[in-house]
Amino acid sequence: MKKNTTIIGAGLVGSLLSIYLAKRGHKVSIYERRGDMRKEKMSAGRSINLALSDRGLLALEKIGLAEEIKKISIPMHCRYIHNADGTTVTQPYGKEGQFINSVSRATLNMRLMDLAEANGVDIFFDHKCENIDWKNNEILFENHSSTTQSTQEISANFELLFGSDGAFSAARLQHQLQHNKFNYQQYYIDCGYKELTILPNGNGDFAMEVNALHIWPRKDYMLIALPNLDKTFTCTLFFPFEGEQSFSKLDTKEKVVGFFNKNFADAVPLMPTYVEDFFNNPTSSLVTVKCFPWVRDDKFALIGDAAHAIVPFFGQGMNCGFEDCRVLDELIDKHNDDWTNILQEYQELRKPDGDAIADLAVNNFTEMRDKTGNPKFLLQKKIEAGLHDKYPEKWIPAYSQVTFSPHIRYSEALSRGLHQEAIMQQIMNIPNIESIWDNVEIEQQILNML
Ligand SMILES: Cc1cc2nc3c(=O)[nH]c(=O)nc-3n(C[C@H](O)[C@H](O)[C@H](O)COP(=O)(O)OP(=O)(O)OC[C@H]3O[C@@H](n4cnc5c(N)ncnc54)[C@H](O)[C@@H]3O)c2cc1C
Repeated sequence: MKKNTTIIGAGLVGSLLSIYLAKRGHKVSIYERRGDMRKEKMSAGRSINLALSDRGLLALEKIGLAEEIKKISIPMHCRYIHNADGTTVTQPYGKEGQFINSVSRATLNMRLMDLAEANGVDIFFDHKCENIDWKNNEILFENHSSTTQSTQEISANFELLFGSDGAFSAARLQHQLQHNKFNYQQYYIDCGYKELTILPNGNGDFAMEVNALHIWPRKDYMLIALPNLDKTFTCTLFFPFEGEQSFSKLDTKEKVVGFFNKNFADAVPLMPTYVEDFFNNPTSSLVTVKCFPWVRDDKFALIGDAAHAIVPFFGQGMNCGFEDCRVLDELIDKHNDDWTNILQEYQELRKPDGDAIADLAVNNFTEMRDKTGNPKFLLQKKIEAGLHDKYPEKWIPAYSQVTFSPHIRYSEALSRGLHQEAIMQQIMNIPNIESIWDNVEIEQQILNML
């Protein structure tokens, strides 16, 4: 049965979900707290660009959008590592031809909104979800009019409702408040982030290698940079809030300049506005949210960050949310529009995967900020890449499972990855591994342990 479907939040996931459902004949309305980003400037505070990888692309492919989005993306084939001593080294993300894509959050979101509307979706902007009455299937919104500067309360009824209103979801809170066994866990890491910009060089071209994700790993913190189509790079400094080296300590211009000159010397000349950016741009926090249940009978589900907010170190938050949409769509076919079963199986499948990518993402922070600068770690990755080339089915590096293997579930990638990592730890502890790593005996030892 086709439904009157309501979605709270017209972010990346809500907009994509609306297209999936509209294409199936649902009458879809989205209510979005903010104004229309196609008409107003987006407020700062979220990442400007994102890494889109194969899971996200597969979900876009299903609605015929992957090729178009690839055209406005920049392929990033490798990690380009800027060591503290000024040397640089590159590390391919996967096999030749495998890459992740830097895409503008705003452009992608706006394109999804355009496509949603073209498919008959109504998007109501400036509607903030305040309350949900689960008995009468009614939502209360606060609607702010910027023309009259007035606020009014508006209610809407729903048959089927999705909460895609992000990490601090109001829909989730309403679900939680009227549930007697709702589990909720939220965890802030001790690092925040701030965005800075690398401008084009004097010739108006990219100031660094464009087809790479640049990383300045500094053990307890790191700077990363992703390319944009306008030949700038958006840099993100992931840095502790408190402590010896922290946002709280960098409170004067002199301290910021001293810190950047000492730790990011090669980036400083490329970022003429970094001091102003540092003080003007917000410092934002990073949270993991795990909760359960995600669904209510045949009428409500959480999706995207509202169900599983994760830290950004695997570049998978949006990809995971897009995958939620694809999986849900497949379940609609499987259960022939029986929404009790669709939502139940959606939750059964996606909850373990959401938990797994949340854990993988936290672990990847240590890998990016600390290990990518370590020669032994780079050797380990080289050994693993060699194994993957030779035995593509038997050994898939954890990063490739998550990023380039959209048919391997996140939960499977986590367990296989942990097993492989335990093997590699033993191998890397072999004395003199630096000289003997490509001996056949080493390879045999790895295969025996697998
Ligand atoms: C620094 C950073 C870098 C990241 N990098 C990557 C990356 O490289 N790759 C990747 O895959 N992911 C990345 N992510 C994660 C990605 O941003 C999120 O996973 C993604 O935005 C989730 O989409 P969403 O639609 O679920 O939520 P959101 O994008 O948060 O959208 C939620 C929408 O709901 C609206 N809303 C909120 N409350 C209400 C309300 N009460 N009523 C109505 N509307 C409401 C909001 O205004 C918003 O439009 C990154 C995140 C951060 C913070």
